Amino acid sequence: MELDQQATLQDSGSSTYMTRVILPSTGHHTRFSMEPATSTRNAVIAAAAVGGFCFYLFFRPYLLLGVLAAASMGAATFWTLRAREVQHVRRTVLITFSIITWAGTFAILAWIGPSSLVKWVADHLRVYYFQGMPMYGTTIIPCTRALPEITLGIAMYGQEAQPGVILKWPSSLVMLIMVMVPFVATAVVFGRGWCGWMCFFGGTVEAFMSGSKIHWPLRRWRMNFTPPDGEASFLGGLKEEVKDIKYGLALALLLIGLGAAVPIICIVCWTFLIQYLWIGLLFIAATVLFAMVVPFMTKKRWFCILCPVGAMIGLVESLSPFRIKIDKEKCDKCYDCMRACPMYAMTPKAIEEKGKPVLDCVKCGRCIEVCPKECVDLYLRGTNMKVRSWFVPLALGATAAWYVWFVFALIQLTPHLLGI
Ligand code: SF4
Ligand code: SF4
Ligand code: SF4
Repeated sequence: MELDQQATLQDSGSSTYMTRVILPSTGHHTRFSMEPATSTRNAVIAAAAVGGFCFYLFFRPYLLLGVLAAASMGAATFWTLRAREVQHVRRTVLITFSIITWAGTFAILAWIGPSSLVKWVADHLRVYYFQGMPMYGTTIIPCTRALPEITLGIAMYGQEAQPGVILKWPSSLVMLIMVMVPFVATAVVFGRGWCGWMCFFGGTVEAFMSGSKIHWPLRRWRMNFTPPDGEASFLGGLKEEVKDIKYGLALALLLIGLGAAVPIICIVCWTFLIQYLWIGLLFIAATVLFAMVVPFMTKKRWFCILCPVGAMIGLVESLSPFRIKIDKEKCDKCYDCMRACPMYAMTPKAIEEKGKPVLDCVKCGRCIEVCPKECVDLYLRGTNMKVRSWFVPLALGATAAWYVWFVFALIQLTPHLLGI
């Protein structure tokens, strides 16, 4: 057990590791030393800006909805900027929007009804299909991940990609621009911060990371790490080859997509998979395992560590102006950040040599709040300017903007479902 190894370190009497030893192996730390991101005055201004933006997004169709959105997201912004931790609010917001997304999706499916679902898939929201083949085509599901990827796939493969492929969406250049511009802008501004703050599936995985005990150390997949001045080794992050699985998956999806002339996301889309039941069942089993079971047991975002979509977003990570950095002068190599990181993005090399996490970092801020030396923060890329106070309001505002669709769908369909 990791706990035993920590106890061994404590017994060794090395004061260097005392901080780590008092941290529970659950990944839930009880003591935070991080500085608030900004002054009270600036936090109030940022909260007012995010609140006003959310009111504008949500006040139609109900004024009360706008007020609620403004109050909750404004409060979330203020708290995240002034508190000595970011996890509780970030997780609460992300998981809340994930629940709304799932609820909105199931509301739509229930509204359509099981009997007409396949017909709906076939007739109304068909993106492409092969002429003469009994294929249902692919829907535009209400998914923040799927929408731009479907669009991108269509843009990539084009109507002439394969004889017999008929493209139904986007119906116009305006539609293409409407979806692609926000998604590309989000990916460029936040990089994998998308995964930490916006992706509903990432929020689903985080929901399953709840609870307090780590039961699975997963020794075979993790490195046995000995600190440079340490007397004992302990389990560190993941082995590089395990993290690289996602690039293999991304390449495989890309090749399958190119070979079959289908948008990449369609390969893992439920409407595509219902046509190939055994692949669909396999996919569901893998999702349950890595998005629910393993995250619950390990408190790490396993689905996201292996997600090919995350790997693709990582390709534009270097364009994002926001970057987690370590002040190597102040760092005392306690490795608390490595233990706390839900993505295994803080590696020994990142801490000792590079001074920044690897590309898997989703900018969740966990390492900032657990560092006892206050030497981790979010910086403007290539500078020493701390920008957590800019990132947080921007990320919360963008998150709200991505989920307006789902909230409205849920509100509008609920009366139909309840027969009101
Ligand atoms: S890694 Fe994939 S599932 Fe996880 S948050 Fe990113 S896009 Fe979403
Ligand atoms: S390195 Fe820090 S900010 Fe990045 S994923 Fe890990 S804990 Fe979160
Ligand atoms: S950055 Fe902070 S938490 Fe990470 S090893 Fe250095 S002192 Fe420890």
